[in-house]
Amino acid sequence: MKSFASLFLLVAMFSCQQATEEFPEEPTLQLHDAHVHLMSPAMVADWKAMGIPFSRSAANYMDLDTILANNGGATIDLIGMGYVYGNPDYYAGDDAYERLVAENDYLLAAAGKHPQNVRPFFAVDPLKAYALEELERCHSRAPDAGLKLHFSTSQVYLTEPVHLAKVKSVFEFAAKNRIPVLLHFDNWHPKFGRRDLEILADSILRIIPPMSLTIAHFGGSGGFSEKTKSFVSAYLDLRRAERLPGAHTFRLDISAVGLDKDSEGVDRLSAQEWSQLRTYLDSIGMENVAFGSDYPLYTAQEYAAVLRDQLDLSAEEMKRLLQQPD
Ligand SMILES: [Zn+2]
Repeated sequence: MKSFASLFLLVAMFSCQQATEEFPEEPTLQLHDAHVHLMSPAMVADWKAMGIPFSRSAANYMDLDTILANNGGATIDLIGMGYVYGNPDYYAGDDAYERLVAENDYLLAAAGKHPQNVRPFFAVDPLKAYALEELERCHSRAPDAGLKLHFSTSQVYLTEPVHLAKVKSVFEFAAKNRIPVLLHFDNWHPKFGRRDLEILADSILRIIPPMSLTIAHFGGSGGFSEKTKSFVSAYLDLRRAERLPGAHTFRLDISAVGLDKDSEGVDRLSAQEWSQLRTYLDSIGMENVAFGSDYPLYTAQEYAAVLRDQLDLSAEEMKRLLQQPD
């Protein structure tokens, strides 16, 4: 069941029953949400056909106006998921490439209606032969857009030289064209972690021009597991050893890490884990953290309040966490 195991965070985000549909009338924070999902109607239909439960109305997944009204972020990064069409476990049809193109087009068209407050991140499976072609197509259509990669869905192993070469050319293109990248790095392998980050740092980031790279979910796949903690420890070690080239903007995205509710397959944090998360957060430094809700897992306002209350963040720390990254 590797395929469904690697899907679990996506499943989880559709299964949270406690989420409120209503957005508080007066948002207290002008915040930037760096991790908000959008799916096209076709993708929603495909997933429903797979039996994946959706706990909210379809508009909450595919209608950007509804998402903006509910999410509560003043500005958002809108994250596409078209890479699922590169994985035959999610889509078995022979028009997977056309589906990916349509998914990216839907995302770019929706975001294009809100250029002042929405930045789209189109999606590509970096191992596919068409990866660079699709990257170029989306970039020429939306020069300010970012790129979302998902190494679990795309089953990317940087320890494999062939994978490394392909990922390197994708990162080179992104860096040269100033395309920010949001990377779900955890490929679900039990040994994923330090070695993968070292390869990313030494064999890719050291070589390419400065870029903006954000690692989703603090390097894990949701929650604050031992694997996530060990990834953050590896990140801190590499940073200390100056193996993360300082010319890059390198952030860790806190989305789906601080769970105060069980999601399918991921437990909420215990009191001890919240206090550990606070310690790790202090070591990382707020300026190196991107705030993201992983909406529809949480709305931005809900997740900001969860982190503030559970991590005991001061008003000043909240301000630094929630400000829009450059
Ligand atoms: Zn996500």
